[in-house]
Amino acid sequence: MEGYERPRINGDDVEHVNTGAASKNRDDEFWFDDGSVVLALGDIEFRVYKGVLSDYSPVFRDMFSLPKPTSPSDTIGEAPTELTADSCPVVQLSDHPGDLKHILRMCIPKSGSILNPFVTNRPSRSTISALIRLGHKYQMGVVVDHAVAYLKIWYAAPAFDTSPKWHLLYSDDGAPGKTYAIEVVQLARLIHEPSLLAPALFLCCSLGEEIVQGYKHDDGSCSALSLEDLGRCIAARSRLADETVSLVLSVFSPPVAKACATPETCETAFQDILSALKGHADLIAHPDIFRSIPVHLGSGLSAMKLQCASCSKMVKKRDADKRRELWRLLPEIMGVRDEVDGWTQERV
Ligand SMILES: [Zn+2]
Repeated sequence: MEGYERPRINGDDVEHVNTGAASKNRDDEFWFDDGSVVLALGDIEFRVYKGVLSDYSPVFRDMFSLPKPTSPSDTIGEAPTELTADSCPVVQLSDHPGDLKHILRMCIPKSGSILNPFVTNRPSRSTISALIRLGHKYQMGVVVDHAVAYLKIWYAAPAFDTSPKWHLLYSDDGAPGKTYAIEVVQLARLIHEPSLLAPALFLCCSLGEEIVQGYKHDDGSCSALSLEDLGRCIAARSRLADETVSLVLSVFSPPVAKACATPETCETAFQDILSALKGHADLIAHPDIFRSIPVHLGSGLSAMKLQCASCSKMVKKRDADKRRELWRLLPEIMGVRDEVDGWTQERV
């Protein structure tokens, strides 16, 4: 994974030891004295088990079986280049040690880990990114699948009616967060996961100046949108604003429902709602086109109470139908229609 190496190394959780001619830092979380391989990342070493990593990753399996070093340009890692004093092979890797730890915590959970299957846990953003990036690099399918399944809870949805938990992303209450969508765009492209790409780009449209600042990882590195994706978001924001205004006008415009109990009152109510919405431009212009205005306003708009039950039901149906249609068009709106096959058939 070219360009993913991160220069910063947190030395707080390593133990300084000497394992040979060069001075090395032994990781205190993943150093098993009976381990069968030493993974050296910069000046930090992990002593773990070849068999476990080989079981998860054909790349590690092949790497550990290489008879001699090959050109770095030909392979992800290198064959063992040296042996420790007790003949344990040492393999050099170019990844960030912190990222490798996330992988090891999943593959070799220690006694302090949460192993109770009845306890749910929210992984950190750095964990999600590391599992997907390194899991992809080392072809650890099950690791990537777990991380992607978690992301889909927040950033994708199997169908419009079971909408993603975007309202929680906006409140940023411990969910991966809205700005993490920038990183999700990169991850979706890395692993070719179209169900995440269009929603992640859509969420980027609701960012302010953070959209150009990028997403800052805990280790100080940064994921930024490409200029092409920035352009897509700028174009989409304009389109989304148009669609929202159009949606509001069509949802609250006459005629009233066929079964309307009080046509004159309801027609007046529609006009009053449209008039009252002039004072709620922030709601109308909000880039989250999937936030239902009738539902969001609820009884907050007094004129909403004046509609009869039939008209109220009709308004909600108009709103849902229009938003469902926009959801169907999301890849096109976000300018990634060519990258997202099967969206229409699977998502609506
Ligand atoms: Zn009515």
